[in-house]
Amino acid sequence: MPLPQFKRILLKLSGEVLMGRQQFGLDPEFVTELAAEIKATKDTGLEICLVIGGGNIFRGVAGAAKGLDRTTGDYMGMLATVMNALAMQNALERLGVETRVQSAIPMASVCEPYIRRRAERHLQKGRIVIFAAGTGNPFFTTDTGAALRAAEMGCHALLKGTSVDGVYDSDPKKNPQANRFDTISYDKVLSDNLKVMDAAAVALCRENHIPIVVFSIREKGNLARVLAGEGVQTIVQEEV
Ligand code: UDP
Repeated sequence: MPLPQFKRILLKLSGEVLMGRQQFGLDPEFVTELAAEIKATKDTGLEICLVIGGGNIFRGVAGAAKGLDRTTGDYMGMLATVMNALAMQNALERLGVETRVQSAIPMASVCEPYIRRRAERHLQKGRIVIFAAGTGNPFFTTDTGAALRAAEMGCHALLKGTSVDGVYDSDPKKNPQANRFDTISYDKVLSDNLKVMDAAAVALCRENHIPIVVFSIREKGNLARVLAGEGVQTIVQEEV
């Protein structure tokens, strides 16, 4: 299904895609490949906001399961997203793309703090802005951080690049008969509790009329294909 022409998008990458072929952490070669795809997309004239998760390094829930305070674990998770943001910034700048990292948790010697109007200016100047540290609050996810920044920055769509190629009616890894939706409404995602994004993120996108495009970023060239309407994806939007 062809996508509408977007001018400004927010691309959310889950931390685990940065692992590439590894089981944990960052695969610099794969991060470079991703950066090249993002650059190619930017070269088409799109304004790009980036949010990267931290699940390849640390998740608060996993820490809590092992006896860590949930809030401490969540702050560690947010710090993990800053590491990923710096890795992606480095890879993009090596390709000649100007970027800025803005963190929801101020860390002056590492990157800028999140300032919406400043981020706006960066985008106008053709820079990619990487928003790090999620929402800056525990008990949230980077998906919610992505939805929040997409709304604040007036993005026309939230593209969620992940390991699966869309939204299914059941887990495709467990059920080979699972069916992928081409489009699905926010309401159905929420009422059927489909595991696309957490409910807070979906609700925020619904309120702000931001379509969510879920696609696999693991396949080379897929970001460009999806944006050209030639890819495989699920679009979460209002009922049509
Ligand atoms: N996190 C948080 N608040 C936020 C965003 C993230 O506490 O606003 C923490 C949380 O512990 C989460 C971790 O950071 O598990 C990593 O983010 P996430 O799990 O969303 O990463 P992804 O699944 O996208 O790799």
